[in-house]
Amino acid sequence: MVDDAAMEGSAITKNPAGGDEDKSSPSHTFERYSLPVRDAPDLHSTPSRFKVSVDRVGLAKLLFKEVFHYRFNMGLVLSRPCIYGVFGGPLGGFAPREHECVGCLRCTIEHPEIVKVEPNPLRWGWGDDFHNPLALDTVDHESRSGSVPVRGQGYRGKFGGAGWDGMWTDMSEIVRPTRDGIHGRESISTLVDLGGSPPLVDPDDLPDTPTLSLPLPTFLDLPPAQSQQIDLPEIWHRAAAMTKGMAFLPVRTVLEKGCPTTHIAPFFSSGEEHLCASFHGTRLVEAESLETALALQRALPQSVVSLRMPYPEDPTELVRLFQKGIRLFHLVADFHGIGPQGRFVLDLIQESHCALVSEGIRDQCSLIGTGGILLAEHTAKAILCGLDAVALDTALSIAIHGRPPGGFGGRDTRYSFPHIPVDWAAQRITNLLSAWRDQLLEIMGAMGLREIRRMRGEMGRALFQSILEKEAFSDIEGFPE
Ligand code: SF4
Repeated sequence: MVDDAAMEGSAITKNPAGGDEDKSSPSHTFERYSLPVRDAPDLHSTPSRFKVSVDRVGLAKLLFKEVFHYRFNMGLVLSRPCIYGVFGGPLGGFAPREHECVGCLRCTIEHPEIVKVEPNPLRWGWGDDFHNPLALDTVDHESRSGSVPVRGQGYRGKFGGAGWDGMWTDMSEIVRPTRDGIHGRESISTLVDLGGSPPLVDPDDLPDTPTLSLPLPTFLDLPPAQSQQIDLPEIWHRAAAMTKGMAFLPVRTVLEKGCPTTHIAPFFSSGEEHLCASFHGTRLVEAESLETALALQRALPQSVVSLRMPYPEDPTELVRLFQKGIRLFHLVADFHGIGPQGRFVLDLIQESHCALVSEGIRDQCSLIGTGGILLAEHTAKAILCGLDAVALDTALSIAIHGRPPGGFGGRDTRYSFPHIPVDWAAQRITNLLSAWRDQLLEIMGAMGLREIRRMRGEMGRALFQSILEKEAFSDIEGFPE
């Protein structure tokens, strides 16, 4: 028996034929899982968040007055009134450095007749309701620095709303013995096991069902279509290796590039199962259809086989597929997290999870979810709702400056990428995953959870706005049914 702390640094398949070293052997030394974070500055500047307009005549008069007031201390005169240095450039307020503006509005309060600060329409027109400028900024910050964005002004957003905003995590003192995973005083494990496991284990007859253990519950989903020739598969592969994780890539791409599959899960479209001969010992493979998945299970008995499918309209479909032998489901919604009948993944995940729980088979299979996961908190919420792991899509492209020119549409949307070096891009993705892991540890610490496997489907730690509002206000006349 190996404890999770020891396994936290490893990513192994219980696969006797696999080429991967089995690091779970007791002789393997302890290694705490950590991600190699390094600064990866933006390669292309984005429009500033705010537009700062200054009345130059008014400013000249003010400066004239202040030169005498501050006794010719020009450094001081030219830097006022902004402590963030917006007016601290060589030309002071005559050429404000708008990128430095954080929107505190101090200047407009002190000198309303001279300075005006407004949101920059170029910036706030980006994206859409889901991929909004604040979310894009957050992903940019995380992938640039690998750190958690702390704004220091408290939370200024809404305390409820549609989608993920309608769910909160319960971090009250009543439910939590506080744990500290961030500063390493206590081990909180983000290790996740995927694949099938039998309902009961006989120690004398251990099953050889393949399972996959990963140190992070976060996959890199198939790279998006692109309008240039950026080597996304190499970026995905490099980032997955740096994070000891897994990236999905089309099987033909894997064959063409000859990538080792330690950190790659080849994706087989229908009819491509004959290409599996080169993948004996591969830890994870994915199929587009049930027939392909079953063919892969027969051909690669030591690999975990995932079935990629849309979130089902009827969640009992998962039970039927389980009975046919599927043990790992990869459920896909669109980039905005919208699945069948226009429903958001928050509900779809819970339904899928509960359908498996009610049949008593939830622990014998695993769920990965793609679509609608743009921020770290979405991963935590998706796992609380019932996923074992998530696979990222738009967040990865945003991290490496990819933008769909016509907006975040369907999965065939072509992304436009500037010229980006592979090393830089892999580092950005690594930084992003590191910042997300820190936030997962923060959330789990605040909920008193020591491992992410226990967080799966732990809906008792979640609060839902719709339920709370109903409980509180449904007796009041006019409350919508
Ligand atoms: S709003 Fe705040 S940060 Fe922006 S220019 Fe004015 S004082 Fe500086």
